[in-house]
Amino acid sequence: MNLLLRLQQSLDAKDLIEEFARLINEECGLDGYHYHHPSEAIVCQSGHQNRHELAYTLRIEGDDLGEFKAYRARPFEEAESQYVENLLTLLMYPLRNALRYQQALRSAYTDPLTGLCNRSNMQHQLQREVSLSRRENRPMSLVIVDIDNFKRVNDRFGHLSGDKVIRCVAQHLRESLRDFDLIFRYGGEEFVLVLSGADAACAGNIAERLRAAVAAHTCKLDGGGEVSPTISLGVTQLREHEDPMALFARADEAMYQAKRQGRNAVCIC
Ligand code: GH3
Ligand code: MG
Ligand code: MG
Repeated sequence: MNLLLRLQQSLDAKDLIEEFARLINEECGLDGYHYHHPSEAIVCQSGHQNRHELAYTLRIEGDDLGEFKAYRARPFEEAESQYVENLLTLLMYPLRNALRYQQALRSAYTDPLTGLCNRSNMQHQLQREVSLSRRENRPMSLVIVDIDNFKRVNDRFGHLSGDKVIRCVAQHLRESLRDFDLIFRYGGEEFVLVLSGADAACAGNIAERLRAAVAAHTCKLDGGGEVSPTISLGVTQLREHEDPMALFARADEAMYQAKRQGRNAVCIC
């Protein structure tokens, strides 16, 4: 098949690099290769290092496309490095497109203020977690988190300081959760946690830990002021035959109950 076509068949950077390495291997017989794109956190490798290497820093028009190295025990001949370089010129634009596509997908699913997943990502993932939990017959719980009296922070210190407080709370939540728990910024000062494998009691304990962690910290503002935010949390466990909307509505109701109880509280429903 035409080489260019083979390299244009995927919008996945890893697939492209694997195909590229395969084409080089067919011609040159490699012992291994290594591709690394640090800011996109992509590592793609196979085989092992050896005495001789061909190394390329890939860039076009100011776009960093990562680094590629090919390894072999015997030296690479001129014609072989020429072959690799010709192939590289075919790889560059498809690779840039794939990396841009990946960046666009990520930013469509990421909240720019906190770096957490955003609401559209939540809708997608919540449905998936509900289905998984049903199929595997294990519990899952949803927690809605809302910063208390947040409007007062904006009114007193301004919106930029308010943004800083949102980031500060988001960071505490993220750091206090287990790696496999999902956290989303749902709206202004509201977050949603999806705790798979957690029943209501377990989720209640996690929520209480989060409440205490946020309440124990002060957030330092750029102008020298300090804010000690608190959060109210509504917790609920997925019930049989329930859809994500009903689960969400019950967690929201639990959160409002925590507000009615005086805020800085956890309510399980
Ligand atoms: P409660 O304890 O009942 O939740 O009171 P609250 O003041 O936190 O709730 P309310 O819904 O009255 O106010 C939320 C405020 O959050 C209003 C809105 O201007 C602000 N807000 C929403 N999104 C952002 C944002 O991205 N940055 C900042 N700084 N403020 C935001
Ligand atoms: Mg709110
Ligand atoms: Mg609030």
